[in-house]
Amino acid sequence: MNAPLLEVRDLKVEFKVGREGWAPWSPARRLKAVQEVSFTLAPGETLGIVGESGCGKSSLARALIGLNPIAGGSVKFAGRELAGLAETEWQALRADVQMIFQDPLSSLDPRMTIGDIIAEPLRWLRPGIAPAEIKAEVERVMARVGLQPNVINRYPHEFSGGQCQRVGIARALIVKPKLIICDEPVSALDVSIQAQVINLLMDLQREDGLALIFIAHDLAVVRHISDRVLVMYLGRVMETADADTLFRAPAHPYTRALLSAVPIPDPALERSKTVQILEGDLPSPIAPPSGCVFRTRCPHAIAACGVGVPKLARRGGSHAVACTLAEIDAAS
Ligand code: SF4
Repeated sequence: MNAPLLEVRDLKVEFKVGREGWAPWSPARRLKAVQEVSFTLAPGETLGIVGESGCGKSSLARALIGLNPIAGGSVKFAGRELAGLAETEWQALRADVQMIFQDPLSSLDPRMTIGDIIAEPLRWLRPGIAPAEIKAEVERVMARVGLQPNVINRYPHEFSGGQCQRVGIARALIVKPKLIICDEPVSALDVSIQAQVINLLMDLQREDGLALIFIAHDLAVVRHISDRVLVMYLGRVMETADADTLFRAPAHPYTRALLSAVPIPDPALERSKTVQILEGDLPSPIAPPSGCVFRTRCPHAIAACGVGVPKLARRGGSHAVACTLAEIDAAS
C-alpha cells in the first residue's frame, strides 16, 4: 500500500451563525458542517463522497483546499499538516491540490478568454514564465481534455456546459496537481455529457497517477469512478468501504436507504425492489440530534442510539460503519 497522499483525522469544520441569545455577550451559535471525519487517500486513488444536500460534502472539500477554516483535527497532505497554515502557505500548496466546481459556466470568468482562464493558475504559480511557454502549456492541456486549439480566444458563453467543464479540468491540470477535488462536477450536465467528462477524468487519472476526491449525489456515477466511498450524513461519516463492498453489502441504514433509490438497469429487478423512503427532513446542523445524528429518520432506532455518537467500527478490510446496532451485534 502506498503512503497516503492525504490523511484526514477527526476533521471539524464549523461556522459562526449569530448568537444563542439577544445579548452581545451570548455565546456564538455554531453550525457544525463537518464533525470528526477521518480518511486517507493514496496517490492515484479515487475517493467518492456521497450524501444528501447539506450533509457536509462540499464543506469538507473546501476545507481540504483552505477555502473553509479547519476548526479541529488534522489534515496532512504529503505528510505536511495543513491545519493552522497561513494564507501564503496555502497558496504554495494550491498547485498540488486543485478543485473542479459544480457549475462549469459560472465558475469561469466571463470577461476572460478560454486561453487566459486556463493560463491563469500557471501565471500565478510562475510569475516570470515566458508567453510562448504559457501558450504551449495551454495548448498541451487543451489537447488533453479534447478542446481544439482554435477555440483558445473564445469566451465561456460561447461553449456548452460540457466544454466549459473541460476548460475547468484543463485549468486544474495546467499546474500538474497531485490531487483534484471534484465537487459535483457533472451534476449540471446532460447525462451523455456526464459520461464524457467522467471518462475524461478517469483517463487523466490513469495517465498522471492523480488522486481524486469525487463528490456527487448520483450514486451510479460514484460507483463507476470510485475506488472507495465515504457516506456522509449531517457532517459525519456513516459508512466507508471499497466501492464494490459498499454497493453490494451496505450495512448502515442510511446507506441502504440511499442505495435503494438507485435505478437498476434490469426492468424486472427494478419493478420488484423496495425503495426505502427517508421520512422527515435533514435536521439542522446548528442543533444536531444527540447520539446518532441519523436517529430522527432511522427506521431501526432504539433508545441506545440517543446515548453517545456511534464510532466508525471496522467490519473487515476497509469497511467501517458508525451504527450502535452494528456495535451491539459485533459485541454479542
Ligand atoms: S445508531 Fe441507531 S439510529 Fe443510528 S443508524 Fe444505527 S440503528 Fe439507526
